[in-house]
Amino acid sequence: MAAQARKLRGSVLTGFRMSLPIKIISTDFDGTFFAEFENPPVPGELQRLIGRLQEGGVHWVINTGRDLSSLLETLARAHLCVRPDYLVVVEREQAHEELFARVRADMPRLVSWVNQRFDAAVYEDAYSPFCLIAENHADADLIHNYLNEYCAGVPNLTVVRNDVYARFSHRAYSKGTALSEIARRLGVSRDHVLAAGDHLNDLPMLSREHARWLVAPSNAVELVKAEVRRQEGFVSDQPHGYGVARGLEFFLEPTARFATNLNSET
Ligand SMILES: [Mg+2]
Repeated sequence: MAAQARKLRGSVLTGFRMSLPIKIISTDFDGTFFAEFENPPVPGELQRLIGRLQEGGVHWVINTGRDLSSLLETLARAHLCVRPDYLVVVEREQAHEELFARVRADMPRLVSWVNQRFDAAVYEDAYSPFCLIAENHADADLIHNYLNEYCAGVPNLTVVRNDVYARFSHRAYSKGTALSEIARRLGVSRDHVLAAGDHLNDLPMLSREHARWLVAPSNAVELVKAEVRRQEGFVSDQPHGYGVARGLEFFLEPTARFATNLNSET
């Protein structure tokens, strides 16, 4: 489910050893930590902040719907100065065979319902018998509603939606449950966990059930922002990684005067 990555030491501010209220940071990747079409895709200030927190003992988790090889390739190309301690990737969904065996007979009906009404790609991959790429958000919303109705009749089946993408998944194997499993193994309670995300597939981890502190960047979809606000989280007025950095500062500042020299290169 989670692959451990080596922690990068050095090149961050030294002397930071105080007790931090946050012990695990879980960031979604695309649109939250990483902005593919921005330059740089990950703000230097966020990298330095996360590196500094890791020096203070914080564990950083990338919690994504990407598969492992795609994530590792993108991380390598981004030439980051920090490395995650844990990766949660789509491979977590491979434990689904029993559930998917139950719904496979319904797939032709669901696929034809979509194909008769929308210009959308529907396919099966190694992680799900039903994967969707809709033409636009409006189509994705309508298909999502239809799939939700179907899922209501199948215990443990849920739709994981991200932008125009959607797939069937097991309710028990979400970004949220994966995050809680990492916290359990590290002996960290949810009171010391921060989660940041921008889209619907992040909602399972953007929950007080799994994380005490919640962050959404300005580019997050409205439903995510509303959920984060409802749970007294932080919604930034800045996008992507800048918004994550503002969220970390917001929650750490009361205990750590953390913003001092945050933008320093040293
Ligand atoms: Mg995202």
